[in-house]
Amino acid sequence: MHNRYLSLALFLGLTAWPPACDRGQAGPEEEAVSSESESVTLRRGESISGKVVKTDEEWRKILTPEQYRIARKAGTEPAFSGKYDEFDQKGTFVCVCCGNELFSSAAKFHSGTGWPSFWEPIGKGRVGEKEDRQFGMRRTEVLCSRCDAHLGHVFNDGPPPTGMRFCINSAALDFQPAK
Ligand code: FE
Repeated sequence: MHNRYLSLALFLGLTAWPPACDRGQAGPEEEAVSSESESVTLRRGESISGKVVKTDEEWRKILTPEQYRIARKAGTEPAFSGKYDEFDQKGTFVCVCCGNELFSSAAKFHSGTGWPSFWEPIGKGRVGEKEDRQFGMRRTEVLCSRCDAHLGHVFNDGPPPTGMRFCINSAALDFQPAK
């Protein structure tokens, strides 16, 4: 008898089944939300995987000439010229092109090189690395993993705890103060 009432209640939509706390993560509502956010993402020029892809012309429209030269054309700002070299506010440094969070002020140190320096990115997969053999040197270029912006280079002469020095152009970064 009880089962008949339950079946009737389910049929009439009087009860949700399975209960909310038992629903898997890929429930219909979440699927709907994620597909909606993907379509928003796509409207902004991003692929479904989250990569940001724009034409040179589009980048030029949203970046200053200096930001474009450095982030999109692998340029380098003169040492001691960037706004985040001597800069000690607490917060997060994001990609100037796509807003990807890249470095925390907690990992920033004064390297004396004239460029903002960090001993680690803010999270795994935030930056990519690529061998750079320009100018007769063998260096490791650091790129934004989301939009492939050129950020700077990484060297293995940094301080503890990682021993790495991410030498980054200020012009490739934006800063979001800690709340
Ligand atoms: Fe980016």
